[in-house]
Amino acid sequence: MNMSGPKATPDVPAPNGGDAASVTPMMRQYQEIKAANPDCLLFYRMGDFYELFFQDAEIASRALGIVLTKRGKHQGADIPMCGVPVVRADEYLHRLIAAGFRVAVCEQTEDPAEAKKRGAKSVVARGVTRLITAGTLTEDTLLDARRNNYLAAIARARVSSPDAPAQFALAYLDISTGEFRVMECDRLALAAEIARVEPGEIIVSDALYGDTEMAPWLRTLAVVTPLTRDVFDGATAERRLASYFAVATTESFGTFSRLELTAAAACITYVERTQLGHRPPLSPPAREAIGTTLIIDAATRANLELMRTLSGERRGSLSEAIDRTVTVAGARLLGQRLAAPLTDPDAIALRLDAVALFVAEAAARADVRAQLAAAPDLARSLARLVLQRGGPRDLAAIRDGLIAADALARRLGELGNLPNEITVAAKALAAPDGAIVAALSAALADHLPYLKRDGGFVRAGYDAALDETRSLRDESRRVVAALQARYADATGVRALKVRHNNVLGYFIEVTQQHGEKLLAAPLNATFIHRQTLAGQVRFTTTELAALEAKIASAADRALAMELAIFDKLAALVTQAAEPVKRAAEALATLDVSAALATLAVERDYVRPEADRSLDFVIEGGRHPVVEQALQQDGGPFVANDCDLSPPEGGSAGRIYVVTGPNMAGKSTFLRQNALIAVLAQMGSFVPARRARIGVVDRLFSRVGAADDLARGRSTFMVEMVETAAILNQAGERALVILDEIGRGTATFDGLSIAWAAIEHLHEANRCRSLFATHFHELTALAAKLPRLHNATVRVKEWHGDVVFLHEVVAGAADRSYGIQVAKLAGLPTAVIERAKLVLAQLESQDRTSARTMIDDLPLFAATARHTPAPKSEADALAATLAALNPDEMSPRDALEALYRLKSKAAKQP
Ligand code: ADP
Ligand code: MG
Repeated sequence: MNMSGPKATPDVPAPNGGDAASVTPMMRQYQEIKAANPDCLLFYRMGDFYELFFQDAEIASRALGIVLTKRGKHQGADIPMCGVPVVRADEYLHRLIAAGFRVAVCEQTEDPAEAKKRGAKSVVARGVTRLITAGTLTEDTLLDARRNNYLAAIARARVSSPDAPAQFALAYLDISTGEFRVMECDRLALAAEIARVEPGEIIVSDALYGDTEMAPWLRTLAVVTPLTRDVFDGATAERRLASYFAVATTESFGTFSRLELTAAAACITYVERTQLGHRPPLSPPAREAIGTTLIIDAATRANLELMRTLSGERRGSLSEAIDRTVTVAGARLLGQRLAAPLTDPDAIALRLDAVALFVAEAAARADVRAQLAAAPDLARSLARLVLQRGGPRDLAAIRDGLIAADALARRLGELGNLPNEITVAAKALAAPDGAIVAALSAALADHLPYLKRDGGFVRAGYDAALDETRSLRDESRRVVAALQARYADATGVRALKVRHNNVLGYFIEVTQQHGEKLLAAPLNATFIHRQTLAGQVRFTTTELAALEAKIASAADRALAMELAIFDKLAALVTQAAEPVKRAAEALATLDVSAALATLAVERDYVRPEADRSLDFVIEGGRHPVVEQALQQDGGPFVANDCDLSPPEGGSAGRIYVVTGPNMAGKSTFLRQNALIAVLAQMGSFVPARRARIGVVDRLFSRVGAADDLARGRSTFMVEMVETAAILNQAGERALVILDEIGRGTATFDGLSIAWAAIEHLHEANRCRSLFATHFHELTALAAKLPRLHNATVRVKEWHGDVVFLHEVVAGAADRSYGIQVAKLAGLPTAVIERAKLVLAQLESQDRTSARTMIDDLPLFAATARHTPAPKSEADALAATLAALNPDEMSPRDALEALYRLKSKAAKQP
């Protein structure tokens, strides 16, 4: 395979280079195979190990933490080597693939005995049987069952003029489940789509990989594999695709642009190369028109914690909070839907109809989920069987999956008057030929080995010849025992034994003294002398030799017969790949609908309305994740309304400016409305009393000063770059969530930027927005901007403490309650008292003149003279705290100060 890449591992001397005489025949074979797979780590099979040599060995030993040894010499130098045991290969493969390597697995393709026949020095024939790359995995051990693993190809159109914006096509497929999609998009949408699809591996042309504009972005993505340009050749693309699917033209799949065909064909070519010609059961490429799904860029996905939290965990994400699926295929489909909410109200309604059915039909919901729970991962088992990589358990998975499908089709039939999506699913569930299940049920044993070469997976009674061969094998002991008894009788030697060892096979053994008798007539006519040892003499007989041959080959023959039966059954399944795959998809669809219904019932969600208006009315909305987290702690979640609809007769949505003290619930309120839109548009019920949403086409969410200290980037710069992207891109159908933008800089800079951003959103973007801020000054904008709505999260002061009500009401926060919050957080009383003093002074003056006022105000040090000197560590801590001036600190300074405080505090008794 001709791939060139960053992980290429050349450096292996050419087979005929240098001193040819010093190269052993085995090394020559190794080098030939390595030369054909220069960019893969070569797992070279030697007995019970896969060995790696030369640079591969150095790379793998480092990546896997295994010992680097040496084996022999090559051109006078030691050959570095390391090895992994074959039985544990999966585990090592997993780690290498995760680290971004590709692996070529090279097996012995003949019995070593065969090689020996050609001469003592001859090398066992070997060949690469698999290329393993991150994007083309099928093994359960290497895959996450609940997530798709996509291979993606990016193709770029040659631009006519240097100024024309570049156009791209993205194709992606999952060979373990058969999904295959393609779309055209611009540079911005491409980044958002890659963030949505999260491919395990991306292939691009060498040219794109080296492109100065693209390279920095490509380097931030998971495994990117550059390939030679023939893979991305537009002229041959259509032909390559058509040939894969064995059709005359791809027109029957829909109309594709040349660029789309190029990307799709690149995927196909890569699959054929890595699968060494085997063709996984892919669906024909389906075109995804841009605009049919809600565009959510990478930062927004991260911010809203759709699939995982900001710290990278699934726990605490929206995905985890709403997932009630009972099958892994259902979990994968739910993930796809969550990653790509729809924008067509009719398509959304079709999904909601299916959920509504299972909300209404509690009994059916329970039955369906019970049936589904028994359905294994049909799609992935099917892919392995078609790729001739399957095992007996994959056959059983097909059987059990189809049995469940059939039962589900009948159960749905009882309901009558099904919504469209369920009708389609029910048809697909009933489609596979019942003969497959019958054949599999008849053939497969109750307990199945993982590997087919272990044998024993065909049920007794299924095949008479197999049964006979097996009984010969299994009853060998009994037959031999009978023979031993007969010979003991005939010779009168009670102690005669039939034994077995690896050198002689079966033999008859008697003591020296009895040996004489067997060596003499007439017994020597039957007993043939084999060996004389110190105390024993060994014999065989023609009968024993014949029995031995039969027994020895019986095991081999039984296995061969089983493997033939396996192939027959696998072929039966492969022939039905299409209907089986559709049944698998239908199972996933049903699972998702029933799971979302379960969620809706369990958490009291309602069916949202999605339409083509620009309205956004949420009544009694709740945050799906926070609500569940609070419930575990026993607290109630306070539901809140939100109405971003254009005011009477208007054509542009509202902007909410949300103020309120820290911890009041501003961020939660902002996010819950974005999440409700995502849920509604993916076709889920939503956590609200009522929700009506004019579909959103682009969702943006940014948090100010989301401190990225670890990556060493200026947080303010990041914040501004991201804000710029929104202000440049958001159209009237967008939903924009801005949380404390401008926090990352000195007060007046931040305030001015926030001010200008709101004006731009109102005047230029004209989109529905939610803007949380601690700048109370911004609430004054409502007087000037008609569609601006001031909202605040209520708090109550009670005996000098602040009580959060989490209730969003119209109006502006009266003040920030910062000191009360600080008190709640456990700041020392001395500091709180001092802060109150400062605040009182500040409030008695104009805030804008705070600086001069601070100059006028006696410093902490000055007042401290009147208070007793710090007596304890706690007081020292308080003094340090008081010396800090948050308004003048950068986020990095603030963080460092926090660490200093913490370490000081830790020193206290
Ligand atoms: P802010 O952004 O105003 O600082 P957050 O939105 O981060 O506040 O909320 C702080 C905490 O308050 C949350 O972690 C949550 O536990 C609680 N909270 C927020 N909103 C609500 C609500 N509507 N009902 C109950 N608790 C809430
Ligand atoms: Mg907040």
